[in-house]
Amino acid sequence: MNGSNTDTLVILSSVNRQYFSKVNTTFGCVIIHEDTRIFITDFRYYGYVSKVLEDWEVICIKPEALYEKINEQLTRLNAEVVGYEDKSLSVEKFQRLYSACSAFRFEPASAYIAQMRAIKSEEEIQKIAAAQMIAQKALGKVVPMIKPGVTEREVAANILYEMLMLGAEDKAFDPIVAFGENSAIPHYRTGKRKLEKNDMVLIDMGAKVDGYCSDMTRTFCVGQPGERIAEIHNVVLEAQNYALQNIRAGISCHEADSYAREYIISHGYGKVFGHPAGHGVGLEIHELPRVQYDESVTLQPNMIITVEPGVYIDGFGGVRIEDIIVVKEDGILNLTNFDKNINL
Ligand code: ZN
Ligand code: ZN
Repeated sequence: MNGSNTDTLVILSSVNRQYFSKVNTTFGCVIIHEDTRIFITDFRYYGYVSKVLEDWEVICIKPEALYEKINEQLTRLNAEVVGYEDKSLSVEKFQRLYSACSAFRFEPASAYIAQMRAIKSEEEIQKIAAAQMIAQKALGKVVPMIKPGVTEREVAANILYEMLMLGAEDKAFDPIVAFGENSAIPHYRTGKRKLEKNDMVLIDMGAKVDGYCSDMTRTFCVGQPGERIAEIHNVVLEAQNYALQNIRAGISCHEADSYAREYIISHGYGKVFGHPAGHGVGLEIHELPRVQYDESVTLQPNMIITVEPGVYIDGFGGVRIEDIIVVKEDGILNLTNFDKNINL
């Protein structure tokens, strides 16, 4: 198998099954060997999967026969070195796989698959772009209801409703809606706090289309922002602009992170920008590449990443501004097109 030391992949996680087959199932196994694609599943999915995967061999089994059937297929394919998902397979499943298929050598393949998934096809880019369009349209519809007295959860509920009504199949993750001092907690759990006049509002949200996620954060003020928070907003916005202007294929993730980070450090907020400047997005909300200071991996064309600097002052408030972009040879294609002003 190109780029890996295995000749066959055995895929048991639903996310990687979906990556290779484009079909979303809760049970089954995908086997990839040279030009052969096998999908083993049960009665619930057999009819559908065999209809959409015309070029695949689709096998219907009783769930308890899974590992036996995998062994039978690996034997038929003359597989030798079998890649398995070391990062997601439970110990129990691995032991069952390993003992049912004792004639084969097993090698970890999660890193190889994750690297493959980091570079998106045109089709994948279109799905993520569609998810982002839905998310930003939904936010546009929800902004007018963000007035003093509304709770964080009411805003989150409306975001979910609007995304589904606009065609999302699901949320990419639970929306983060944080008012006032709660915005200082980067992965805040949306709660019952009511919006007060002149509060900051941080909203981090994403939609899902055909399994693919989007991710965007905006931070704004309903009313008159205080001087300090306005300054922080400006620093974060400028840091993000600087990164967006400089990120392109061929630079390292470290370099991409440092464009945003050094701007924030130079304005005295380095210690309160405590997370990576970005991350890959795809079938999962966080995937490779890791856009962080200690990551030497090189950005490649058609990687999809976020650029999300943030400054968080404990007990006071925080600002994060996040766009989702496609890395291109000579720059980026920004899939995000939503106002970044402190007053919307
Ligand atoms: Zn986000
Ligand atoms: Zn993110």
